Amino acid sequence: MSWRPITLIAALCLTLSVPGVAAADDPPPEVEQRAGTQAPAEVSGLSEPARAADPVAAAKAHLTDPRYHLDPADLQPVRTVVDGQDETVRFAQRHRGVPVFGAHYLVHLRKDGAQREIVGAGGRFLTELTVDTTPTVTKETAEKIAIGLRPRGYTGRERPAATARELVVLPRGTGVLAWHVVLNSRSERGSTGPASPPMLLDTYVDAHSGRPLFTVDRLRREGPVQGTGRTAHGSDVTLNAYERADGAVELRDRARPMWNGSTGEILTYDAAGADVQGFLEPGIPPGTELAESPSPVFGPEHTATGAVDAHHGAGLVYEFYRGLGRDGLDGQGGTMLSVVNVTAGGQPFTNAFWDGTKMVYGGGGTDYHSFAASLDVVGHEMTHGVITHSADLVYLGQSGAINEGLADYFGNAVQVDALGIPMSDPDASLLGEGLCKNLPPAECAGRDLDDARVAAEDYLGLTIALDNGGVHVNSTIFSGALWDVREQLGGRRADRLAYKALTEYMTPLDDFVDGRRAVESAARALGWPARDRLTVARAFDRHGIKPGWERHLRTDSRLLIDGVTDFNAVPDVAGDRYVISDSSPDATAPSRILTGRLRGGKPVVLAADDRWNYYPKTDGAQVVWASFDDARTSFRVSARPIDGSAPARVVQDTPDVVTGLAVAGDVIAWEAFDPASGEVEVWAKRGAAAPVRLSAEAGVSGYSPSIRGGKVAYTREWEEGGFFHSTPAVYDLATGTQVVVPEVPGTVGPSYTVMPILLERYVVWTADTNFDGRFAVMRAAHDGTGSTAVVPDGPAAPTLNWFDANDSTISMGLWPDGDTLGNATLPKVFQVPLTGGTPRRVSCNAGAQDYFSAGTGARLAWLDGTDGNTDLVTRDRPVVRC
Ligand SMILES: [Zn+2]
Repeated sequence: MSWRPITLIAALCLTLSVPGVAAADDPPPEVEQRAGTQAPAEVSGLSEPARAADPVAAAKAHLTDPRYHLDPADLQPVRTVVDGQDETVRFAQRHRGVPVFGAHYLVHLRKDGAQREIVGAGGRFLTELTVDTTPTVTKETAEKIAIGLRPRGYTGRERPAATARELVVLPRGTGVLAWHVVLNSRSERGSTGPASPPMLLDTYVDAHSGRPLFTVDRLRREGPVQGTGRTAHGSDVTLNAYERADGAVELRDRARPMWNGSTGEILTYDAAGADVQGFLEPGIPPGTELAESPSPVFGPEHTATGAVDAHHGAGLVYEFYRGLGRDGLDGQGGTMLSVVNVTAGGQPFTNAFWDGTKMVYGGGGTDYHSFAASLDVVGHEMTHGVITHSADLVYLGQSGAINEGLADYFGNAVQVDALGIPMSDPDASLLGEGLCKNLPPAECAGRDLDDARVAAEDYLGLTIALDNGGVHVNSTIFSGALWDVREQLGGRRADRLAYKALTEYMTPLDDFVDGRRAVESAARALGWPARDRLTVARAFDRHGIKPGWERHLRTDSRLLIDGVTDFNAVPDVAGDRYVISDSSPDATAPSRILTGRLRGGKPVVLAADDRWNYYPKTDGAQVVWASFDDARTSFRVSARPIDGSAPARVVQDTPDVVTGLAVAGDVIAWEAFDPASGEVEVWAKRGAAAPVRLSAEAGVSGYSPSIRGGKVAYTREWEEGGFFHSTPAVYDLATGTQVVVPEVPGTVGPSYTVMPILLERYVVWTADTNFDGRFAVMRAAHDGTGSTAVVPDGPAAPTLNWFDANDSTISMGLWPDGDTLGNATLPKVFQVPLTGGTPRRVSCNAGAQDYFSAGTGARLAWLDGTDGNTDLVTRDRPVVRC
């Protein structure tokens, strides 16, 4: 389905009628479509006169062409990038005035004297949006929901703080109106527990239903990476500083062209060892001072904090981007902020990040210099700022890996140019090699752009729940291709190419193949000859970035569903049957409920996408799940025979947000968040009887119901003496009596219980006794007696990712020990007999083995990230060895 506007054909005829004159080398005009929208992904090869003198007006006029299928009134101009003769106008889509997440559309113009023509357009514009943009969930409720549902993997004891910032429309189906809620780990109350890890999350909550949608980690954390400077590496550098009236000199640079008399400074703050938790809000917190000295000499103490390196490096990075035609991170000469010398929980913070408004650098420690000490790290963090103000690549999956990859590429480019390192130097491609105090430089480097990774062979298989889908661990696959181009064609040309692709062709949700197309389009727009464009194409080919690359990855499991796209998908298995929720291939449709057999075959739809369905569970005969309709006014628990022999029936309608379910025989249980009380409760319903709230007492919450033989086990949580206490409880529906299993003793406060499973003779659960993220697996009788550790807690205990059990086997998703992110350190599933024994691997699949569910014996179905997306797969028995 491609179309060619008349102007394209005219341009083509002109070219053909004047042989040998105009661009015989150029490909014919092309249109690429994008699934789920009528607006084309890219139109290239146009040559159409501009219909207005101003580039923004000309771009809008061009987009009125009905074949774009978009309404220019929905386009808000973001910025116009001028690069020689090229002008690119970037628009952000709005739906009824509300920004549409990730939807940018670009128009490319070329100016020749007073003449201006449209040469191309493309990006992402959603043509099918109809969602009502008046929220029915208030800001305050959205904040409560975000707090009440603690992010998975957040092991801090303190409840995070939440702030609802604004409404956005998420690009799924006809659109989902959502509150953007920022969650951070700043403590709301005192705590004597260990420090929480720093956290800054963008969470999206459905503004019509209250359903939590997804979460993006804002901290652009680096691995153990880093840099240089008397500077940390002994170079004497000049610093643009500022002498105050009191005579003190501070790190305030007003010497750059961006200084306009009131703004456009480079400012470097010294956090003086303050905790990183205080720097997660936008801007600089009150009380934080600029790095200052009594004289213009910034002594060794400023080398130690990283202030010299951060300030000097920021200036170098500014000049680098100025060479590419950019004035500062925002492209408009806005002030640039750095903070050095932060700590984490009283320990050195060996990391750095861009939080959306500023660079933050850890102060280093015994082994590391300040994280500002490697110029490539400074360039990396500042490039995140440039990306925020250009393509704004979403920090998730492949678009996130391109974001990281560009930050690595430009970080290293700044460093080799500024320090005069030849591209042939083996350290040129390392990121963060300047961070080591004593160790060999390569030991501190987090990444190597010359690591020669090929997508199909080296892709690290993270599911969407981990490292945002692999943003750091897969970045060099993309940046490696760009670095190859730089090695072959030189820094000046390659940097211009990458910068043009970033600022004029990429859009927020691009995947690797989209990113390659953006770079190739930029090469064409730069007028590169065919020979050099072939060099670019070969670089991407060499790194395996070409359409369909994901088909070449290997696994030892049976594929049940290829490409699960529902953010909330967790499989459930009983006997030979599985159930799961799933969305459309582009993740935009409401999720359906699917069931199938572990031996294979095509899944069957049990609940269609006329409602939003999620969290299905089965006992092998019935399936229960939660849903809400398009009006999104209430939640519903539904049930249907797994063989589809009867239609679905409504078990319960509720205003509460249903966040978990269980079914066995005639008993159905669910976990639901009550926005009014702020508590999560467990309910159980037997047959036609009214539902019973098991965690009814004020101040008591219930989580994770599990049913067996007319009894329901769940995690009971309450606050006492400033701590959250938690332990399994077993409720007997026949007698209405409840046994609270004695808490497992904790060492630094109460232990932390998750995921109790009720078996024929036992309740099993996992408990962390010392808040180190390692968990014991516990077992007790239904009456709470005989509490025993099947797998004891301690330094060798498993770092748990997920958990399930049946009457013979315990299945544990474990994080292998190790600091380096790689396939070897992604979660893997192990099984151990219920009676104890040696854990065995279930599968040798290289990537993440994430959420799973156990059938009978050793059967297991799980979400697997190995082959480039998230799949549902299965095995019947553990492997012998990997
Ligand atoms: Zn980064």
